Amino acid sequence: LNRRLAEFGTTIFAEMSALAVRTGSINLGQGFPDTDGPEEIREAAVRALRDGRGNQYPPGPGVPELRTAVAAHQQRRFGLTYDPDTEVLVTAGATEAIAAALLGLLEPGDEVIALEPYYDSYAACIAMAGGTRVPVTLRPHFEESASFRLDLDELRDAVTDRTRLLLINTPHNPTGTVLTREELTAVAELAVERDLLVVTDEVYEHLVFDDAEHLPLATFPGMRERTVTIGSAGKSFSFTGWKVGWVTSTPELVSAVRAAKQFLTYVASGPFQYAVAEALALPDTYFAAFRADMLAKRDVLAAGLAEAGFEVFRTAGTYFITTDIRPLGESDGFAFCRALPERAGVVAIPNAVFYDHREAGAPFVRFAFCKQTEVLQEAAGRLKAAF
Ligand code: PMP
Ligand code: GLN
Repeated sequence: LNRRLAEFGTTIFAEMSALAVRTGSINLGQGFPDTDGPEEIREAAVRALRDGRGNQYPPGPGVPELRTAVAAHQQRRFGLTYDPDTEVLVTAGATEAIAAALLGLLEPGDEVIALEPYYDSYAACIAMAGGTRVPVTLRPHFEESASFRLDLDELRDAVTDRTRLLLINTPHNPTGTVLTREELTAVAELAVERDLLVVTDEVYEHLVFDDAEHLPLATFPGMRERTVTIGSAGKSFSFTGWKVGWVTSTPELVSAVRAAKQFLTYVASGPFQYAVAEALALPDTYFAAFRADMLAKRDVLAAGLAEAGFEVFRTAGTYFITTDIRPLGESDGFAFCRALPERAGVVAIPNAVFYDHREAGAPFVRFAFCKQTEVLQEAAGRLKAAF
């Protein structure tokens, strides 16, 4: 293994899902739904397969139907206009979008500011692109309801002459933080003032709860021309195995991402692209029901975790809950998660894996709630019995 990748072993998701299978535990680690997305969209995929649409290499940028649907979805929801031919790129999931964006946009030595804790592929892709990651740590706050917040002064202080790109994620995995209008305004102003590119991972755009609102960074003044926005059918339609994602940006930035993407997978997921095009056109009632269902699941798991003695951070978006294990008399999330299957028959993820400053993430543990309610209740019962 080369030096760029030496620090990255097996992803925590593979390790923890294998542990769940080995121990017969309830897997609240890796974030994937245990209920597949809409039947009619599965039918659309079957139709595409049968009709011979997408069984051979689709066009490099993605099938026109899907690019048009992505643009229409951005227009309908956020009033953002993208040209399906030049400003939309279909990728093999958001994972490839992130990789291709960083590989296509970074020069070796460029600094990338990412919000820590960050989704694990960010660090690896920055490394593969020869960039240097500069983490800005989201800090836990315990007043009113516990949550993680961005310190805007820390963000500003992290920018240097070598900073090329801000890598933002909202709604944020693993903390469940949704950046507010004020925070995003400050991020946008900083990007414009320092002439930075922004790659924004908005795969949980449809999963925001209570009074939180998802505001795409590209809608802020001066941002559309410097922002690469990433979405995922895995997250929005519960088809994580289909690996369909997309990028929207300017023609220049999309070309740069495509230049890298064409040598990663070239293309992927042919028939599924047609089905996702139909999914993006689903009525608002689908998205509202999806959100309401996840909100109810959040509340079941949050209540269960609180009863078991965890400090529970409020999830404003995503399908993850971050907890603090210190009220249980524990302080090392790694040790806690390795022992949890034996102790309680549940698998979770230690947030420390998403940190460069491991000690800052040590007492935090993430649970996914994109599972059937009975599964969440069973997990909560096991945790209550164990602690
Ligand atoms: N970004 C974030 C923040 C995620 O949580 C995930 C999925 N875990 C991805 C990207 C990857 O998405 P996909 O499955 O579409 O590759
Ligand atoms: N995005 C999912 C999570 O955060 C897992 C993705 C993966 O396994 N790479 O849990």
